[in-house]
Amino acid sequence: MRPVTERNEVLEQAAKFRSLRKGARAALRTRSMTLQELFDQASSDPLLGSSKVASLMWVIPGVGKVRTLQRLEELGVAETVTIGDLTAAHRASLIELARGRLLVVSGPSGVGKGTVIRALAEETSFHLSVSATTRNMRPGEVDGENYFFLTEPEFRKWVAADRMLEWAEYAGNLYGTPRAPVEAHLEAGRDVVLEIEVQGARQVKMAMPESILVFILPPSIEELEKRLEGRGDTANVAERLETAKRELEEVPFFDFTVVNDDVERAAGELRSILRILPKFRM
Ligand code: ADP
Ligand code: 5GP
Repeated sequence: MRPVTERNEVLEQAAKFRSLRKGARAALRTRSMTLQELFDQASSDPLLGSSKVASLMWVIPGVGKVRTLQRLEELGVAETVTIGDLTAAHRASLIELARGRLLVVSGPSGVGKGTVIRALAEETSFHLSVSATTRNMRPGEVDGENYFFLTEPEFRKWVAADRMLEWAEYAGNLYGTPRAPVEAHLEAGRDVVLEIEVQGARQVKMAMPESILVFILPPSIEELEKRLEGRGDTANVAERLETAKRELEEVPFFDFTVVNDDVERAAGELRSILRILPKFRM
């Protein structure tokens, strides 16, 4: 039998290993840690490096067990391979498999897109894209945080330089999604959420068919009007309401609809959609 001190050390190491793995799994499960970050951490931590990659990877939403095992088989790597034993090419291939998902949240102005996305962010990790717009800043808005506020010539220059993933005119102003940050976050394995109007959502689906389009519906038109008026800071309520009626005709173009009757319930539905997202990957 081993001496007591040695046995204690072994037990301590085993406990440390289990807690490291547990932490990594939890972070991967919420996508608050990317696979790239796990690999980086493992290269300076031999204990984490000795961990099997498969059972860590398959907890990542949008990856799953079947796709993980399939990819390892394609790479000619055993299911029991540890992180430390992966080559650079293996790592690159697994990181590509764990690419972020693009969730497009659309729906009429005032329906509660911003509110529901804020509730989603409380338990789910993602990058919220910051759009560019030519509209005037509302009180409390910050340039570079709520939007990049551009002049129309600046906006058109970005479009001409292909710097917008999509763009559209809405209520007399231009709105667009800067392409580079979206691509960088997806590639790094982070989910990205866009909060945009319907014409832009269509353009994203055309450019990236693997994106998921969710239309947020109001419980009723009367309730939508109430929310637009209640927000107080929104100009052109009547015009936005007319636009909303036209936008509702676009619903069949979307992958999912979510009724925003209750913020927490609607955010929960978005969370469920993110859980089943792999079905939509190409
Ligand atoms: P959007 O981003 O779609 O333009 P907002 O998130 O700004 O809409 O919401 C518009 C208004 O409706 C806000 O005052 C918000 O507090 C309110 N609101 C959002 N969701 C709900 C809900 N489920 N029930 C009642 N009011 C809501
Ligand atoms: P608001 O002026 O209320 O901030 O936004 C008006 C509308 O523009 C909303 O429906 C909002 O979702 C949409 N919007 C915001 N950013 C973008 C964007 O980058 N692209 C498109 N197409 N629409 C956007």
